[in-house]
Amino acid sequence: ETAATAAAATPATAAVQTAAEEFGRLYGAEPEGVWAAPGRVNLIGEYTDFNDGFVMPLALPHTTVAAVSRRTDGVLRVHSADAPDGVVRLDIAGLTPSSGSGGWAAYPAGVVWALREAGHAVTGADIHVTSTVPTGAGLSSSAALEVATAKALSDLFGLGLPEAELAVIAQRAENDFVGVPCGIMDQMASACCQEGHALYLDARDLTQRQVPFDLVSRGLRLLVVDTQVKHALGDGAYAERRAGCEAGARALGLRALRDQPYEQLPDALARLEAAGQPENVVRYVRHVVSDDARVERAIALLDAGDIRATGRILLDGHVSLRDDLRVSCPELDLAVSSAVAAGALGARMTGGGFGGSAVVLIEEADATQVTKAVEAAFAEASFTAPRIFEATPSQGVHRLR
Ligand code: ADP
Ligand code: MG
Repeated sequence: ETAATAAAATPATAAVQTAAEEFGRLYGAEPEGVWAAPGRVNLIGEYTDFNDGFVMPLALPHTTVAAVSRRTDGVLRVHSADAPDGVVRLDIAGLTPSSGSGGWAAYPAGVVWALREAGHAVTGADIHVTSTVPTGAGLSSSAALEVATAKALSDLFGLGLPEAELAVIAQRAENDFVGVPCGIMDQMASACCQEGHALYLDARDLTQRQVPFDLVSRGLRLLVVDTQVKHALGDGAYAERRAGCEAGARALGLRALRDQPYEQLPDALARLEAAGQPENVVRYVRHVVSDDARVERAIALLDAGDIRATGRILLDGHVSLRDDLRVSCPELDLAVSSAVAAGALGARMTGGGFGGSAVVLIEEADATQVTKAVEAAFAEASFTAPRIFEATPSQGVHRLR
């Protein structure tokens, strides 16, 4: 299987048809509408969003498609083609952060809860979702599910919420209802990305800029290597990094690490050491402040039209995530090292780490060679075969029908 054909996104018309038919079988009527929200890869800026910093994701062609109709009786019914548990029926008046069963339905139920918490009159819905976003692969299937749900309900109930507001609602659902302390990047990417662009986002005030990212005209490609190792952010490591970053900011007298100028980073690290901060806090601060700076450098290169030169920045970012933040794993490290040894311009883990996916920037002509080399390296190490596919910068959430 070549990189270009593996895990291709379902064509939109076929996805609409399939989702609408399944909705009809489940609920006995046509859906009022069908929406799609994508997964994402992050190019650079990792673990920076919850430090009020900068990120640069792009949307994948892989989407979560939601067929949805309104209800007026306070009932929420949800079904996923990708979950075994059939139709889940919930009473929306009874939705509270502690009421969930902990299953996948907490994501769409959390969106309904967050919308109602924000004062929007959502009176019930029937929802069927089907997705081509790999789950638990660091590609934000959870945000795609939340954002597709939020957009459908916003349209159906006439809420008219702008994309960034959908993202905020979706993050609230994941943080406070599902109970995952994620930053805002994934939801903003799924809601706001545009085809052919990377999203340059300031996570403090949600200022955003669409940065042209035309790989094809430059003879370049972006590969995603899904290591098939399932990350489990709930295991406390993410929260531990987050707490360490907050401790570092406090010790430096900063509102957030985003406020530490990169030029004075050595001085800041020395002050942390002198103040007796634990060595892991020093490492976390070095990662976050330097990754914010890497986003700025990447943006400058992209604005100058030099996508190739960002490869080096991806590599530096991976080393920082591996050695300072320590959120990589042997499979991710091997994906990066084997891709680079086979001629990739750059590569790094993307997303929360501890498994999940790596993103690889290559010359178009090297696609087969790099794909084969990574597959061979995984086989050699007796790792599960990775899933490798091409990422083309795609559209954020949109209505299909
Ligand atoms: P990621 O967002 O990187 O894929 P997460 O752990 O944040 O990983 O979210 C994965 C979880 O989201 C799944 O375990 C499941 O509960 C839920 N999920 C995502 N997409 C779907 C889907 N299409 N159907 C059912 N549940 C889904
Ligand atoms: Mg997620």
